[in-house]
Amino acid sequence: MSRSSNKTYRFSHLYRGDDWLSPGYVDVDANGMIVGVTGVPTSELERRSERFDGFAVPGMPNVHSHAYLRALAGFAEPIGTRNRDFWAWRDRMYELALGLEPPDIEAITAQVFVEMTKAGFTSVGEFHYLHRAPDGRPYADPAEVSRRVIAAADAAGIGLTLLPALYMHGGVDAPLGERQRRFASGSVDEYLALLGSLGMKREPHELLRVGAAPHSVRAVTERELRDLIDGLDRAAPAAPIHMHLAEQRGEVEESLDRRGERPGEWLAHRFAFSSRWTLVHATHCDQNELAEIARREATVGLCPVTEANLGDGLFALPAYEAERGRWGVGTDSNTAIGVALELGVLEYGQRSARQRRDVHSDDGRSAGSLLFASALRGGAASLGQPVGSVEPGKRADLLVFDPNAPAFVGHDIDTFLDAWLVSGGAAAPSQVMVGGRWVVRDRRHLREDEVARRFAVVMSRLHRRDA
Ligand SMILES: [Zn+2]
Repeated sequence: MSRSSNKTYRFSHLYRGDDWLSPGYVDVDANGMIVGVTGVPTSELERRSERFDGFAVPGMPNVHSHAYLRALAGFAEPIGTRNRDFWAWRDRMYELALGLEPPDIEAITAQVFVEMTKAGFTSVGEFHYLHRAPDGRPYADPAEVSRRVIAAADAAGIGLTLLPALYMHGGVDAPLGERQRRFASGSVDEYLALLGSLGMKREPHELLRVGAAPHSVRAVTERELRDLIDGLDRAAPAAPIHMHLAEQRGEVEESLDRRGERPGEWLAHRFAFSSRWTLVHATHCDQNELAEIARREATVGLCPVTEANLGDGLFALPAYEAERGRWGVGTDSNTAIGVALELGVLEYGQRSARQRRDVHSDDGRSAGSLLFASALRGGAASLGQPVGSVEPGKRADLLVFDPNAPAFVGHDIDTFLDAWLVSGGAAAPSQVMVGGRWVVRDRRHLREDEVARRFAVVMSRLHRRDA
């Protein structure tokens, strides 16, 4: 690759993922990969750099999303006892899932992905389970809807780790329900063929990765999960594996009743789950389960806004931090989308539960610094993408914040991440780069109008009140 195809950027302040350079220079090659980072100015660097006055930070990986659920935002809130709990909300979700055709799913997903980039998420793990047609029949191309999700990611310019779900059972040893007919895979082999058809081998600079998502410990048997892992070990031994774990007490009780073990115990006793695994929620894991997840260096996927919206409960973050456990954040149901919003809700839940403000161990970092660094590190591990820090070999996924935005006036590198955290997301990045390409300039996504128009058409049809 010729040197002339590289681009160099100079930021007043550059957060690399655990420390700052002021100024910071980033060299990006023609594939959008970072090839150099320095804080030492030279006249040559100054001459060739495009300058940005502001705070630049790595784009945040979003470890857990079901994009289509955005269509339910605000339509499934409680009215008296209606939509009272997670299970009632899940019924509404199943209704929605049966009413969406592939172009609808693409339109909703593109809107959600555009909003993610504007809010600071530059890569996303899309946990995708709408494989079949609304009547439950497979599409001629079993990857039909997966390809729609990929097209939506292309439109938004976001990094995508596509995680098609393997959903074989509606509960422990129970068949899938009639309303879960779109989620079905015929067999583990059929599912592995679907993953294979999406291309599991990818170049580092590519924005797409494909991983596996056995839906939950209740949705697969031991044999099915073993067959899946064996198949993956042959085809793509490094591919990420994501699974829901213990979001609701009901899941823990079902597992104890039917299998005599808690969900995390069942998994840990049978499978060598490791750093390629992400266990989503883990809300009701006990201390032993959390210690085991931490010991094996798996990532916990926390989705604080969705978990709060659904009344799931609070994750035991301080206990997990004490085990040096790894975690990332996800937007899950996508009712509202924001990096600072997720981390802020996470932090405030912990503070309220303990009636104190110092919920993390004192390692010299502020709450904002600790949360952003942890979520970057866990998010990158979870998605299997070269992201989460600014260093050679990583993809150029960067957010740039205007130091004159009201939320940041007067702040410097010591307090910037805290100012962003407490803003709740009101202070969005003004420029966003994914893979060396600017997708948001001056707070506007390059394709936001066209994507929003398609989204509006679908939403108007879905929620038409005269129907
Ligand atoms: Zn989920």
